[in-house]
Amino acid sequence: MSQIIVFTDLDDTLIQTRRKLPDNASFSLGATDKEGLPLSFMTKSQATMLQVFSQSGAIIIPVTGRNTSALDRVAYAFKHYRVVSHGALVLQKNGEICPLWLDKVADQFEAWKALMFSCNKEILSLIKDYQLNARSRVITDHDIDVYVSVKGEPDALSFIRDRNTHGKHFTHHENGHNYALLPPYASKKKAVEHINQILDLGVDHLIIGLGDSLSDLEFMTSCQFAMFPQHSQIKCSLSDV
Ligand SMILES: [Mg+2]
Repeated sequence: MSQIIVFTDLDDTLIQTRRKLPDNASFSLGATDKEGLPLSFMTKSQATMLQVFSQSGAIIIPVTGRNTSALDRVAYAFKHYRVVSHGALVLQKNGEICPLWLDKVADQFEAWKALMFSCNKEILSLIKDYQLNARSRVITDHDIDVYVSVKGEPDALSFIRDRNTHGKHFTHHENGHNYALLPPYASKKKAVEHINQILDLGVDHLIIGLGDSLSDLEFMTSCQFAMFPQHSQIKCSLSDV
C-alpha cells in the first residue's frame, strides 16, 4: 500500500465551536481557549475520520491559520510536520521552524513587517472612526510577524475590506467572522508543496487535502484528492451544483 499523507485544515474542518456543532452530534474536546477552557469540539464522525487515517499509518499534517501557541491548544497531538499561521511557518517534528523553509522566506519578513503594521493601524482607525464591531492585530509566531488578523461581524469585515487601502498588497482569507491579510510567504499551498518536496512525495503516494474555506482550495487542489465538510464555505460555493 502507498504511504498516505493527509494535509488538513483544523477550524471548521476537524473541529468547530459549540454553536457550529450539528444538532444531536456526539462530540469530544477539540481545543481549549487561552484559559484552558473548552472552546472547540470534534464530532464523532470527525474523530472517526482521523482514527481511520491514523490506523492506516497516514502522516497527518495540520495546515492551519492558527499560530503555534493556538495549535498547541488543539487536543489532537500532531506528530509530524505542521503548517501554522496560514502557511507562514513550517514546523518540524521537534517544533522548530524548518530551516529549509526559512531559507525560502526569511528575507521577506522585514520587508513586510512595516506594511502589516501600517495596514493594522489603518484598520484600527476604521474600527474606531466607524465604531465597527471588530478588532484587528498583527499575529506573531516564533517572534515573527506573520499576518494581520481581523475578527468581527461579517458586515464590519466587509466594510473594512472595501475601504482598507493597504489591502491590495495582501492575499486574503475571509470566512465568517475571520478576515486575514496575508503576506506572500503566508501561503498554505507553498508550505504544503515544500513538505511534499522534503518528503519526496510523488505520484505513487496518496496525498489527501482537507479544508473548509475557499482559501484552502489552493493547497487542497495541489493534493491528489480533496475533501471538504458538508457545512463549509466550499460547499456553499457549490450550492448550484
Ligand atoms: Mg478552516
